[in-house]
Amino acid sequence: MKIYLYGVREDEQGYMKEWSNAHPDVELDYTNQILTEETADLAKGYNGVVLLQTQAYTRAALEKLQSFGISKISVRNVGLDGFDFKDLRDLGFSLTNVPVYSPNAIAEHTTSLMLRLLRRVPEFDQKFANTDFRWFPTIGEEINGKTVGIIGTGHIGSVVARIMMAFGAKVVAYDIKPNPYLENLGIYVDTPDEVIEQADILTLHTPLAKRDVHMIDADAFAKMKDGVILINAARGGLVDTDALIAALDSGKVGGAGLDVLESENDVFQKKFDSINDVKDPQFKALINRDNVIITPHTAFYTTTAVHNMVFDSLNDNLKMLENKAPKYPVDITVE
Ligand code: NAD
Repeated sequence: MKIYLYGVREDEQGYMKEWSNAHPDVELDYTNQILTEETADLAKGYNGVVLLQTQAYTRAALEKLQSFGISKISVRNVGLDGFDFKDLRDLGFSLTNVPVYSPNAIAEHTTSLMLRLLRRVPEFDQKFANTDFRWFPTIGEEINGKTVGIIGTGHIGSVVARIMMAFGAKVVAYDIKPNPYLENLGIYVDTPDEVIEQADILTLHTPLAKRDVHMIDADAFAKMKDGVILINAARGGLVDTDALIAALDSGKVGGAGLDVLESENDVFQKKFDSINDVKDPQFKALINRDNVIITPHTAFYTTTAVHNMVFDSLNDNLKMLENKAPKYPVDITVE
């Protein structure tokens, strides 16, 4: 059996080698390039492909894979926005993803964003850079006793809920499908507005369905408590960034921890010589604030998560090639 991997980063290669050692009958090869119509030729002669990219998977590229007899695709991440399922159906592909690789990675990062904002770490860093080691007036706040609002309590949001309860916060949550375990803990309210209105710290953990684009817009900010802290480690499009910038300017929002941004593809995973070379006006409007922490979509980025992304995608690709049931099949019959 031969599997070809696209978009491979250096930090994935060790895990690929480990997987390969455990599967001596499977030949693995890879490129750091993403799958395009041009790079599809690299997979000629292989049985399955394993992918990871933020750019869309084009029909032309998929048609080429199909013409080489490849029909099994596994992605090493959760997101499937890059696929047109109709193309996959028309061309006879089966697809797997890795829906759960480490919810703790994102939940812990979410917690660190909260703590860094509450303890005013960016301001202390700035003071340290100026050899100013005085406390005053950079006094912090505690999670203990705060109301933490969580929208979306799936794999990640439910871990955030448990962490916040351990900190002694009051957790208020909304989910279109409440989790039975958390329901017993009495954390759910009936509407997202109740979460938005009650939260001292609001954290988002839903996918980005079309109906949820700009879930947090100017109207939502108007309903929030003054000085609320907003954390978004889910999807950039959930927050109307211009409305967030206005709410930071007015002081309505007291701090924002953002691991995802609407226009992140223009900035994240790129190296600039200077901040002047970054063109994105929203990013520039957010970056130089003491009360905003931006991380470049790294909430997931731990050794545990990357190991699981590589192992689970390869395991499932091989299962499909051996006509066995994969662990994470994607239902491509639904849009
Ligand atoms: P999940 O599918 O396990 O949970 C999502 C939850 O949101 C579900 O319980 C669902 O019922 C609920 N939900 C959906 N729409 C809702 C709405 N409008 N209002 C309230 N609840 C709603 O997903 P997950 O694995 O927990 O991922 C959550 C988010 O985190 C996703 O957006 C995902 O893309 C993102 N994510 C980010 C990173 C990162 O590195 N920053 C990594 C992985 C996942």
